[in-house]
Amino acid sequence: MTTTSPSAHTDTTTPPDASVLLRCHGLRCTPSRLHTLAMLSRSGLHLSSAEACAELHRLGAPFDPATVYRTLETLTAVGLTHAVHGPGPKRYGISSEPHHHTVCEQCGQVGTLASEPLREAVERIAEFTGLRPGASGSLLVYGRCARCGD
Ligand SMILES: [Zn+2]
Ligand SMILES: [Zn+2]
Repeated sequence: MTTTSPSAHTDTTTPPDASVLLRCHGLRCTPSRLHTLAMLSRSGLHLSSAEACAELHRLGAPFDPATVYRTLETLTAVGLTHAVHGPGPKRYGISSEPHHHTVCEQCGQVGTLASEPLREAVERIAEFTGLRPGASGSLLVYGRCARCGD
């Protein structure tokens, strides 16, 4: 006896795309969600709501700022994206590969920091402080980005 999930898809040849990800998280595939998710996924960037809005506009998928903001909040609520709080507006990034973050304290730009090479550093932090950081996404390293220089 087998049960068939109504959301099951039969296409096993391609990696999950934005529409599959959305459905897996119980979200309807609205154009703004599809485009925002695909754009963040492809760029690998962490963008503020305004920056995401500008980028979507550049890609020929313009949505009004309120829609983009609501979309990012919805995607973050179900865990498809995550928000990083630095100086200025929060930045949103895609939640695929585990990673930590760098934050420029001048311009607020958020960068990705691979978590695997920093495994030991995270263990050291637990040793020194008693704080047990999560496996990924725990470290927030502040500094100046290459563009802001010294
Ligand atoms: Zn991130
Ligand atoms: Zn900067």
